[in-house]
Amino acid sequence: MISRCRKCRMEYEAVFGDDHICPKCRREIEEQFDRVRAYLYDHPGANIATVTAECEVTERQVLRWLREDRIFVAGNTGYILKCEGCGKPIPSGVYCPECAKRYSSAKGSGFGMNNQGAETGKQRFAVDSRKHI
Ligand SMILES: [Zn+2]
Ligand SMILES: [Zn+2]
Repeated sequence: MISRCRKCRMEYEAVFGDDHICPKCRREIEEQFDRVRAYLYDHPGANIATVTAECEVTERQVLRWLREDRIFVAGNTGYILKCEGCGKPIPSGVYCPECAKRYSSAKGSGFGMNNQGAETGKQRFAVDSRKHI
C-alpha cells in the first residue's frame, strides 16, 4: 500500500496502522523525541514554549506526545491538556485520574457483579453435585 507522508509529502510503502509518516520522518520524530526527553531530564518542569524553542520541535508534536503519555511538559499557566471527561487540566494522557477510574469501573459495573454471582453459583453447584456422586 502506497501512502503519502503527511510531513514531507513523499510517497512511501506504508504498513497497516501507521500514521502516514514515512520511515525517514518517523526517524526524525524519534530523534526529536529523544532530544525533548533529554532536555526535560535536565530541565524538569520546563514549559512548552521553552521546550519547543530549545529542542526545535513544533508545539503540535509536543502536544501529541503529551496525549500519548510519553512526556510531561507544563504550560505557562500550569497543565496544557484538558481531561476529555470533565475538562479539568491534566499533565498528560486523556483523562484525569478520577475520570479514568470512573470510566474503567463503569465498564464492568453491574454486568461484572452478575457474572461473579453466576460463577459462584456454578462453583457451588459443581461442589454439590460432586458430593452427591
Ligand atoms: Zn516523510
Ligand atoms: Zn476528568
